[in-house]
Amino acid sequence: MTQAPISTRADRIKPSATLAVSGRAGELRAEGKQVLNFSAGEPDFSPPSAVTRAVAEAAAAGPIHYAPVPGTPALRDAIAKTLCAVHGRSFERNEILVSCGAKHSLANLFLSMCDPGDEVVIPSPYWVSYPDMAGLAEAVSVFVPTTRAEGWRMRPEALEAAISPRTRLIVLNSPSNPTGAGYREADLAALGEVIAAKAPQAYVLSDDIYRDLVYDDFTYASPIAALGPEVGSRVIAVDGVSKTFAMTGYRIGYFAGPKEVVAAASRIQSQTTSGATTLSMVAALAALTDPSVPAEVAAMKQAFTRRRSLVLEGLAEIPGAEALPPDGAFYVFVDVSRHTGEKARHADDIELAKWLLEEKLVAAVPGTPFGAPGHLRMSYATDDATLTEGLSRIGDALRSLPTG
Ligand code: PMP
Ligand code: GLU
Repeated sequence: MTQAPISTRADRIKPSATLAVSGRAGELRAEGKQVLNFSAGEPDFSPPSAVTRAVAEAAAAGPIHYAPVPGTPALRDAIAKTLCAVHGRSFERNEILVSCGAKHSLANLFLSMCDPGDEVVIPSPYWVSYPDMAGLAEAVSVFVPTTRAEGWRMRPEALEAAISPRTRLIVLNSPSNPTGAGYREADLAALGEVIAAKAPQAYVLSDDIYRDLVYDDFTYASPIAALGPEVGSRVIAVDGVSKTFAMTGYRIGYFAGPKEVVAAASRIQSQTTSGATTLSMVAALAALTDPSVPAEVAAMKQAFTRRRSLVLEGLAEIPGAEALPPDGAFYVFVDVSRHTGEKARHADDIELAKWLLEEKLVAAVPGTPFGAPGHLRMSYATDDATLTEGLSRIGDALRSLPTG
């Protein structure tokens, strides 16, 4: 049989490592194994009750038809209102595009804004999907290394070194997946000065999906407000309901940006997915507008706060597992490099994560696909019992290894 033709574009794309580890953990569970899962980048809660109610009522009410490609007017207006409160400026309906998850919003943006050879500046460690999405648009990823000692935040000089006349987009993700690090107003102001001086042609892609999940004294700072008036007007804010409202499976994300970009991304969407799922838009509208939702979200945040402490306390007991307390999101990014390398049992973090999953039945995502070998990403979006038992298993496993 002739082999089916696969495009070079598809060939270049790596499967999402986060989804791959979660998928493998699911398979082992289906085989009856007691996997403790630290890999999932999604809350384990049910969505707020008003969301579920709104969907059930809409489903019972009658036919579910195609929705307008850029999103229902009611949802776009509710998003504009939400974002006005977050960013301190007003948005028109035609500055908002609703898509099938923030991942889809991001993919639409890379495809709408990048020509082949354009450069996308990405702080590293980065969420696994950014470089592949840039690659799909034939853009080139330029990484800005950050370190734990710098709080996993870009220094202005490091950003400056990555900028060139071909820079089209600069990605910000605060708080970050995988490190949990967030940028404060002063950090953003310093980065804004660099962008104003060195990248007058570039737009900032701010992935704000974790902006509501913040801890201790960290408060989310809006890049639109904090990068300075001129650079602030070049920010595209990507957001969604997946994380804050525990609605990952509903697949609703959105972005706010210049109306020309919204129109371009909407054209792509009209020829690929059409509008986002009609019922899910009903759900997202309830999440953003129903007055009963904030109290339920506050309870979820309280649980995340407790779990974060639990993980940090557990990790402090494990030799060779070093991590910074995250400002936000629900991940701890752990340096396990003492347990990898030539002299260690496992050559790298990928091997180590595989051993932990297959032999010790604890799932964590290796750091390499995030651009940070020698690390593991642990999600604490899971129940307390799993966290406690999982940390004890990881501790026993790592203590059993000769160090590298
Ligand atoms: N950005 C980041 C940093 C993420 O971690 C995720 C999680 N998948 C997304 C975007 C996309 O979220 P979703 O497509 O579920 O809205
Ligand atoms: N963003 C989540 C994660 O990083 C969900 C999986 C994905 O879309 O990558 O685990």
